[in-house]
Amino acid sequence: MPSQNRKGEVVLRGIAASPGVCRGKALVLRDDAPAVERRQLTDEEVPQEIDRLEQALLRTRQDVEELRSKLSAAIGEKDASIFEVHLLILEDSELLNGTSRRIREEKVNADAAYGDVAREYIKLLASLNDPYFRERAADIRDVTQRVLNHLRLDSLRSGPLVLSEPAIIISHDLTPSTTAQLDRSMVLGFATDVGSQTSHTAILARSLGIPAVVGLHEISSQVTNGQPLLLDGHTGSVYVHPTDQTLFEYGQLARRRVQFEEQLREIHDQPAVTLDGTRVLLSANLELAEDAGAVAEAGAEGVGLFRTEYLFLRGPSLPDEESQLTAYRTVAEAVKPNAVIIRTLDIGGDKFIPHLPMPKEVNPFLGWRAIRFCLHQQDLFRTQLRAILRASAFGSVKLMYPMISGVDELVAANALLSECKEALRREGLPFDEKMEVGAMIEIPSAVMVAEQLAEHADFFSIGTNDLIQYTLAIDRLNDRIAHLYEPTHPAVLRLIRLTVDAAHTRGRWVGVCGEMAGDPVMVLLLLGLGVDELSAAPPSVPRIKHLIRRCRLDEAREFATWALAQATGAPVLQRAEEMAHRLAPTLFT
Ligand code: PEP
Ligand code: MG
Repeated sequence: MPSQNRKGEVVLRGIAASPGVCRGKALVLRDDAPAVERRQLTDEEVPQEIDRLEQALLRTRQDVEELRSKLSAAIGEKDASIFEVHLLILEDSELLNGTSRRIREEKVNADAAYGDVAREYIKLLASLNDPYFRERAADIRDVTQRVLNHLRLDSLRSGPLVLSEPAIIISHDLTPSTTAQLDRSMVLGFATDVGSQTSHTAILARSLGIPAVVGLHEISSQVTNGQPLLLDGHTGSVYVHPTDQTLFEYGQLARRRVQFEEQLREIHDQPAVTLDGTRVLLSANLELAEDAGAVAEAGAEGVGLFRTEYLFLRGPSLPDEESQLTAYRTVAEAVKPNAVIIRTLDIGGDKFIPHLPMPKEVNPFLGWRAIRFCLHQQDLFRTQLRAILRASAFGSVKLMYPMISGVDELVAANALLSECKEALRREGLPFDEKMEVGAMIEIPSAVMVAEQLAEHADFFSIGTNDLIQYTLAIDRLNDRIAHLYEPTHPAVLRLIRLTVDAAHTRGRWVGVCGEMAGDPVMVLLLLGLGVDELSAAPPSVPRIKHLIRRCRLDEAREFATWALAQATGAPVLQRAEEMAHRLAPTLFT
């Protein structure tokens, strides 16, 4: 609910997704469209734009025909006939002529021209008091969106997205691939209608240090382009037309924050060691190879999770072995002598490669994702395995597989890895023969067979984002149930303990690379449960280190034992907060 607290100022409240405060003008992206700008064409560019439009229409026709044939096999010709209507819309002369006219006469790019004509058409049909026409409006919206997506992909292929001035991005949703495409120097912050703290867009924002608020429900229709905003990613608030008083108060807070960050710099080169002398390996998560410098900058000891997806999401085409090698090697060399744990491709769920069409799924988080996808697309997987192996010759590289649900998958992935090693040996290409291979533990079934998995893995890394999602049946993207996403739920804590026990019994080590490891309130609990490594987004690392250096492991263990015996998560959370506030009060003020 927006509240109008001071003259002219409106405050919208959502979910705090990435800490930090920013001020700037709103740039509203509609329908998750990245900032494809309305561009004025030169005379020479006009035929090119007409051609782009035709190509996009052709590709959309192919998509729709493919969908129609798949669906007629599954649900019968009759129900699939809706696609006939969609094909007719693609040939609709009003739409096509209207768009070409605008491109020629107004000299605007195809995306803007087609989008404008489609919107006017949809508005007209939707306003008619006839259910038939209203349904047709929905069809047109569907088909024209497909065409716009193709136009957009085409623009992505031709270069990075450009914002003409720094702005706070407002959108209904932002996919990770769109987010990864935005020009970072121009993006002051994000605010979206939907989303939650563990969506990959929120994770990416945290990792990039960009303040973000999600789950604001209607911000994309409440805010208009150019409105002045103040976005507070700590509390999850967005101020529209902030008053001088609000700006003054935030200015004061910013000064205090800078002072505290300076204090944290004092422990930059110090180890993450508890008061009773236990050394904790504190690493950083990394999304983009070019950010590898941020790891040492944050005072982390290497990379606990390198999400390789962004290499695939951002490029104009699938990265080949050499370009992957370059990226992995860059990171390995940047963090040397510390290690980088490179996670193989975790595509699917909420991350889709714009230029790699994948079937639409009803439950993508339960679908063709991560290792399931890679074991099916073996050529693509082999290329990545070879690149990771080759990068291991340049530093301390470990590899891990995401979304392992049982022993068969791990064995199958390792068999492909062995094949790749054999091929590299034959080709005389060097790699680290002793490269450690780990499995992510993020599905409850993996926890239940962790001892057996440990026979085929050198280490485990617990992905709490997914482990919590799959254990509690909480869609990690759904803001309506975000309050039920409970890291301190006894089921989650017991699964973590089971994993640690299974690994330690077999002499393996266990890390946590989900967002839980970057939350200072959770640190004591995780250490008490026995994990050996924590890996957090670089901006969180100094805070986590600060807390580790102020706690005692015996106290953490006692706390974890108590927490494991609780029936619900709420008292555990309350005590975790009290303890963290007592140990490191400055972190929370
Ligand atoms: C996790 O699930 O906790 C994890 C680290 O992987 P991702 O967030 O990329 O799914
Ligand atoms: Mg995961």
